[in-house]
Amino acid sequence: MRPTRFAYVQPESVEDAVACLRTHGPDARVLAGGQSLLPLLNRRLLRPAALVDLRRLTGLRKVRQDGSGLRIGALTTHHDLETPQGPAAHPDWAVLAQTARLVGHLPIRTRGTVGGSLAHGDPVAEWCLLAVLLDAEITATGPDGSRTITADRFFTGATNGPRTALRWDEIITEVLFPAPAPTSALVEFSPQDKELPLVAAAAEVRLAADGTVAAVRLALAGAADRPVRARAAERALVGRPADTALPEAAASLVVRSLTPPDDARASSGYRRELATVLTTRALRASLRKADPR
Ligand SMILES: Cc1cc2nc3c(=O)[nH]c(=O)nc-3n(C[C@H](O)[C@H](O)[C@H](O)COP(=O)(O)OP(=O)(O)OC[C@H]3O[C@@H](n4cnc5c(N)ncnc54)[C@H](O)[C@@H]3O)c2cc1C
Repeated sequence: MRPTRFAYVQPESVEDAVACLRTHGPDARVLAGGQSLLPLLNRRLLRPAALVDLRRLTGLRKVRQDGSGLRIGALTTHHDLETPQGPAAHPDWAVLAQTARLVGHLPIRTRGTVGGSLAHGDPVAEWCLLAVLLDAEITATGPDGSRTITADRFFTGATNGPRTALRWDEIITEVLFPAPAPTSALVEFSPQDKELPLVAAAAEVRLAADGTVAAVRLALAGAADRPVRARAAERALVGRPADTALPEAAASLVVRSLTPPDDARASSGYRRELATVLTTRALRASLRKADPR
């Protein structure tokens, strides 16, 4: 099948791109790497009035660190971040390279962009999960200028409507990961290698000098209609000894609050089992980074 007819524009600036969206209205779509959008067009699941191709906005393909954290331009590809010489190669940001490597096949990673993943907002996408884990801030530019949306407010759920808080005339320009994340870990299970996972879990533990948990973040994808933090479990774990029993105890706390979706890919019960196993693994991996002894 071929896509339906649409207008096609290649704006030269972000402001120009926003103006193009305004001109063509809510049925226009931004095109970045096309790795999610083009399959939808080819199957006519989406019939946009216009595609606003961001390819000329090369300034959005950059990564830089400043006093606020690591800023990743929206057009940065997954592959840009996965290479050992890449801008996120520093051990503080190793989880970014690990996350990038989990996204699909190499041809997808060389075209697909971080901004595209966030805007697409698939509830199991790795970048969406990491953004929620690390309290990332997403910058969107629209006709009234730029605004910043925290990841926990950005993903709004997949049922009947937009999966993100992005407005139809806004473009993601950047995502900020505010603090180094040297102990973060992200693990996933997918029935088919190099496909979107069924469930993924991410953890970040920081230890106190006495070996207890000083701070912990836990997040899951594929366990709800959007990536979620397990905040009650996070609170309950602070002050506990970071011993070998911790990951499993934590996982049972995490799944207590979950009602995973039941869909064509997996039953709710299966997703719950996966969430338990993957939370345990993510915590073990994070603990190894926090205390490599
Ligand atoms: C075989 C296969 C396997 C895949 N495996 C994975 C996987 O394991 N994990 C994973 O996360 N994804 C996976 N994907 C999906 C895909 O890789 C990502 O979702 C993709 O990289 C999205 O980025 P993109 O630049 O290609 O976005 P596009 O496809 O160009 O756009 C996606 C959506 O986001 C919007 N958009 C894009 N950029 C912006 C922007 N800057 N501002 C506003 N809106 C924007 C578009 O309008 C569109 O609605 C897979 C895809 C395929 C085909």
